[in-house]
Amino acid sequence: MSTIQKLRTDVVIVGGGIVGASAALALRRMGAAVVLLERDLCGSRSSGVNFGGVRRQGRPVSQLPLAQRAHRIWAQLPALLGTDGEYIRSGHFKIARSEADMASLERYRALSSDFDLGLELISAARLRTQCPWLGTRAVGGSLCLEDGQANPRLVSPAFALAAQRAGAQVLERHKVEEVAHDGELFMVRAAHAQGTLEVQAPVLLNCAGAWAGAIAAQFGETPPLTWRSPLMAVTEPVAHFMDWSLGVEGGGIYCRQVERGNLVIGGGNGLTLGPDRARAEREGIALLAQQAVELLPALRHAHIIRTWGGTEGYLPDRQPVLGPSRTTPGLFHGFGFSGAGFQIGPAAGEVLADLARDGHTETPIDAFAIERFDTPPVSLSATVSAVPTASPT
Ligand SMILES: Cc1cc2nc3c(=O)[nH]c(=O)nc-3n(C[C@H](O)[C@H](O)[C@H](O)COP(=O)(O)OP(=O)(O)OC[C@H]3O[C@@H](n4cnc5c(N)ncnc54)[C@H](O)[C@@H]3O)c2cc1C
Repeated sequence: MSTIQKLRTDVVIVGGGIVGASAALALRRMGAAVVLLERDLCGSRSSGVNFGGVRRQGRPVSQLPLAQRAHRIWAQLPALLGTDGEYIRSGHFKIARSEADMASLERYRALSSDFDLGLELISAARLRTQCPWLGTRAVGGSLCLEDGQANPRLVSPAFALAAQRAGAQVLERHKVEEVAHDGELFMVRAAHAQGTLEVQAPVLLNCAGAWAGAIAAQFGETPPLTWRSPLMAVTEPVAHFMDWSLGVEGGGIYCRQVERGNLVIGGGNGLTLGPDRARAEREGIALLAQQAVELLPALRHAHIIRTWGGTEGYLPDRQPVLGPSRTTPGLFHGFGFSGAGFQIGPAAGEVLADLARDGHTETPIDAFAIERFDTPPVSLSATVSAVPTASPT
């Protein structure tokens, strides 16, 4: 027989990706009572299947305060989570394939000079001697020595586990189906195998990733969130030749080599089959393989052993929504990280915890306000509404 269980807490979080889980951990460290509701398994979506790039270089300058805060958190992973998640500061090298690319990297270095990224421009001549493994299209690039990489499959679930160890109620396989606000408290209703759970709390954090638009819409907010599936592939292990994580100015392909020799490669998008499913396409993989060999000729004979994608929420300006709702006091959003939320995720979680506790944060987040999308709030007459299945827009 199905049962309805009720809980009362300080903060209820929807979504157990790196953002929701790190918010839960930060809130517990502040002493707040937290319930986190995750539809699947924590870290099983974007946060656990991404490329694993932990980079500040190349981010919009408006994201750098958040990225710097995250950089400090990443340095403390073993103390915070009990694992290093294979995080290493291997260096991130952004390749220029033309003089125009090189000029653009120089401009970025000047623009970001207020932040301590330590960017170093490397000439073609130095590249040839230092990195003989790089293909000849590279005419130089920009190195951020303290950026790096990590294993998302380890890091993201570890945030949720750490939050649970710290006292958060982390409830997996709990799908939020109804949300409402009575002017004082949120009521969040989740379905699970044994029945229904109703959680009441004065604060709700919307960390539902690509599906967060459905939660926001219940409060009359309709940011133009869409989803895509970045395409990923991994090769068989080959002899270790590269420490840096690589990107390319202007985008296209990114690549890193893990300790046991496999090359993880990403670029372009796979096929989105629906809100919950995505897959790699033959043409996309062929293009990725061609670009990878051009960049790293040593891969000419390497086999790709696995391909995958993941559903990620994108906003038109490729900046997240991070901050208070404009319709509902006590509701805070953190979603739409547009393919780049792994590095900043832990800081986004801390910012949400600041907002939940104090209503403000020291980290500048104006650029991420939901108000920047000029869609007027939709007035709602219902107090309790079903969360619809999101559909691509
Ligand atoms: C293939 C790929 C490669 C990427 N590479 C990088 C990279 O190298 N570097 C980088 O910085 N970023 C990268 N990103 C982006 C990064 O992974 C994401 O921005 C980040 O993980 C977003 O975290 P999140 O917690 O917001 O979302 P998610 O990890 O998607 O978590 C949201 C969670 O909410 C849950 N949820 C949704 N609806 C409900 C509901 N109704 N009830 C309960 N739970 C719900 C979902 O099940 C999900 O677990 C990549 C993304 C992908 C897909």
